[in-house]
Amino acid sequence: MGRRVEQVERRGKVLILRFDVGSLLVHLGMSGHLRLCQGAPPTEKHDHLEILFPGPWRLRLHDPRRFGGVLWTAGDPLEHPLVAGLGPEPLEDGLTGAYLFNASRGRRVAIKSFLMNGRVVAGIGNIYANEALFRARLNPLQPAGGIARKGFDRLVTGIQGVLQAALRHGGTTLRDYCDGEGRPGHFQLELNVYGRSGKPCLACGRLVRHARQGQRSTFWCAHCQP
Ligand SMILES: [Zn+2]
Repeated sequence: MGRRVEQVERRGKVLILRFDVGSLLVHLGMSGHLRLCQGAPPTEKHDHLEILFPGPWRLRLHDPRRFGGVLWTAGDPLEHPLVAGLGPEPLEDGLTGAYLFNASRGRRVAIKSFLMNGRVVAGIGNIYANEALFRARLNPLQPAGGIARKGFDRLVTGIQGVLQAALRHGGTTLRDYCDGEGRPGHFQLELNVYGRSGKPCLACGRLVRHARQGQRSTFWCAHCQP
């Protein structure tokens, strides 16, 4: 009560609200979102947490599928087990072709699963992993350890390109994603392969394929991503 949020940051998929006495770690799970509300609009089903600020503002966590979570830590939030072992942020300097190349030597895991492992790179979800691999012309099913250095250079360009484009479009709204003011994103209109199984590849016209990889859907063009 009465504490001030001093800083807000993000590491991987975890939001960190720093107070002078500790930090709240917020994970939105599959479909949770935080919304900044003015006044006191009626609460909705699945509004699970509300933080009141001075004046009319309140921050609400809405999480219909309940995969999200909120934790408090009095210690250094970056040392918390939820984020301590994460790899480099995709849009910061630590992510390079050389880094991915070195990290993948000897690894037989498929490149897409490798990319979605937060210990390798922080916070790349399923949609953007699919799209980054399409941009890099890499088959998502191939072993990470067999990809040449040049492939990883293209992959870093693909990851950063797709994330920056998605940010410009306000994110990807397939079901219920929206931003802190309740607005949906529009990047779903720009997707090349994700969700386009059986439809023509936008680059070559051949049909986009679909497979399941570690419980997640994978989409790729076998011609463009040999
Ligand atoms: Zn194609």
